[in-house]
Amino acid sequence: MPHRNASQPDLLPTPADGRVRVMLTLPFAGPLDYLLPPRLADVRPGDIVSVPLGRRTETGVVWDATSRLPPEFTPPPQKDVPTARLKPVASRLDLPPLPAQLRQFVDWVAAYTLSPPGMVLAMALRANALAPLPRPASGWEPVPTPPTGLRLTPARHRVLDIAASGAPLTTTELARRAGVGAAVIRGLAQAGALQAVEIAPPPPFASPDPAHCPPVLEGDQATVATELRARVAENGFSITLLEGVTGSGKTEIYMEAIAACVEAGRQALVLLPEIALSAQWTGRFARRFGAEPALWHSDLGSRLRRVTWRAVADGTARVVVGARSALFLPFDQLGLIIVDEEHETAFKQEDGVTYHARDMAVVRARMSRAPVVLVSATPSLESLANVGAGRYRHLKLGARHGNASMPDVETLDMRADPPERGLFLSPTLTGAINDAIGRGEQAMLFLNRRGYAPLTLCRTCGHRMQCPNCTAWLVEHRARHILTCHHCGYDEPIPQTCPKCADADSLTPIGPGVERITEEARATFPDARILVMASDTLNGPAATAAAVERIARREIDLVIGTQIVAKGWHFPHLTLVGIVDADLGLGGGDLRASERTVQLLHQVAGRAGRAEAPGRVLLQSYVPDHPVMQALVSGDFASFMEQEAEQRRPGFWPPYGRLAALIVSAEAPDAADLTARALGQNAPRMDGVQVLGPAPAPLAILRGRHRFRLLLRARRNIAVQPIMREWLSRVKPERGARIDVDIDPVSFL
Ligand code: ADP
Ligand code: ZN
Repeated sequence: MPHRNASQPDLLPTPADGRVRVMLTLPFAGPLDYLLPPRLADVRPGDIVSVPLGRRTETGVVWDATSRLPPEFTPPPQKDVPTARLKPVASRLDLPPLPAQLRQFVDWVAAYTLSPPGMVLAMALRANALAPLPRPASGWEPVPTPPTGLRLTPARHRVLDIAASGAPLTTTELARRAGVGAAVIRGLAQAGALQAVEIAPPPPFASPDPAHCPPVLEGDQATVATELRARVAENGFSITLLEGVTGSGKTEIYMEAIAACVEAGRQALVLLPEIALSAQWTGRFARRFGAEPALWHSDLGSRLRRVTWRAVADGTARVVVGARSALFLPFDQLGLIIVDEEHETAFKQEDGVTYHARDMAVVRARMSRAPVVLVSATPSLESLANVGAGRYRHLKLGARHGNASMPDVETLDMRADPPERGLFLSPTLTGAINDAIGRGEQAMLFLNRRGYAPLTLCRTCGHRMQCPNCTAWLVEHRARHILTCHHCGYDEPIPQTCPKCADADSLTPIGPGVERITEEARATFPDARILVMASDTLNGPAATAAAVERIARREIDLVIGTQIVAKGWHFPHLTLVGIVDADLGLGGGDLRASERTVQLLHQVAGRAGRAEAPGRVLLQSYVPDHPVMQALVSGDFASFMEQEAEQRRPGFWPPYGRLAALIVSAEAPDAADLTARALGQNAPRMDGVQVLGPAPAPLAILRGRHRFRLLLRARRNIAVQPIMREWLSRVKPERGARIDVDIDPVSFL
């Protein structure tokens, strides 16, 4: 049976000539034409079908006859294949159709990011989401009128009584309850006294109960919650930026918007930047609503993925929390989208279809006529500029909830208070950690760098250990006895002698990673119970949740971590945070380096003092007067962001202008170079548009491919997609060269 529901307004008649457009999950420019055989005459847009392609059979989605995109986004028309040459659709799959909103969203994302729409569709149809579910179990129920002449033993009697008394039971269960063997049940079935029925599986996701455990809200919190509930009640598109310091109750408040959405019978989607956070989040959700939300991320097992995909499509999954890919789920009654930690760059997908999930969430919400709420303690300049331009509403939570106050942030001038030779923690910092632990409180050290040391150098000849495939140093991971490349995954054993000058024991680690800080901490605080949290040492959300549990149970005195500790964790006994290298993110010439450093470090700082005891944050820095350090100390982010805005406005840098990057890569340096130069020669020349480059990328070689970058910068009122499309159409890449497009780039490597 095809699924069909009333909220699908798009039951277009099948064209008279029987042609349909089918989008395949392949990198074609658009959907392909097929014929509908008479037995499939009722196939409609959205239906999931099997079609022949060459000698293979492919799964695709019947696409809309006409695009609903704005003209500047509409891809060029494809040439028509004569009807006589078309192949017929093979079959329709027993799956809910892809809602019209989602098809339109796929088209939009493809057009905006200049990606083949089939590759965007592939994200919506993750292959294993479509595989058939195991057949439902079957059970037994008595027939309405028992056959005449049925021989009734006491055992048969018990079976029939139990079978008649409730929902159908499986053979095993029925036999167990009646205290008989399976043969008795088979006998009754053969005699025609029991009939087999399918046992419907219970709905995979219980309904969240908005009244389960609502918080008591007062003041600011109550006002903001009322506002958000009103946005949900409007049942229309709106964008709200919810800003409030860490611990002010943002999560608590947006749960109220979710409650309103569930009360209204619609579905809510919550996007988190990091799936490691989901365990703590779902626990909190369950306490508030008495039921678990549905989860969606790339590590989901295939059965759960199938069940969840269907539950989202049929509406039984009311609330979904997930990573950016959850945007492509087949919601049909979407009533709210929340983007938590909206400033996080992890929302940008960097490979395959490069899209920014925060921005695409806004598009998805618009198509679903639903409100979207962007949540952050340190909103992106993009979102603040949209507030300034009147495009987004702005709601603010003033202070931390309850008696918790903001931590006191100080810089430690590393020039004045240097660590001992060969160490990385200054005496002031180690003293403060000792004091905190001595008081029975917890401390945390943060360094956003995995491994032992970022560089290994030969003291004799100066040789630096480099990745053979990338323009990058190899990072020492001492516990694993390897040097490894964080870009391509290459690794090798740590050599005993310098590969260049062959000197023995001359290789020296330069600079710290968390492993090295841990070594130092173990020596400095021999009695402290230390826990290391890094993305490569914690294996998935469950392990992360277990680590967080240990911290909450006070089994740990000192936490040492990479950016995974920065996230929204609530550590009530943590009072001291030490930032090992506050300057780390400032280098590299990235447009958003300062903004990002403030966001990241404020988030780390926000882990301190979330309960009664006040928190303290110490920033080790060689540039304590830098505006970033000053902003962190004063907590005045509004002024900091205004300065950022002043720096970007005159040059039309985002968000006051648009950027699109082209990355040319090839194994052969010449192919990359020639293609990049051809792009440079054919660069668009027009008012308000400027092309920078080509120039070798900072990662000039990555995974063995030589790379060049070009950057197009345009005034905000210029749509870059048609310009880019035209530009690309004029350049044919050299053999072996590839051109990747990155609209609104976040990374400039
Ligand atoms: P944020 O998301 O802004 O960091 P949270 O929503 O996590 O803030 O709130 C911080 C802490 O305060 C959490 O432990 C939360 O449960 C608690 N909290 C916030 N508001 C309330 C409230 N109104 N009632 C009870 N607890 C609250
Ligand atoms: Zn590499």
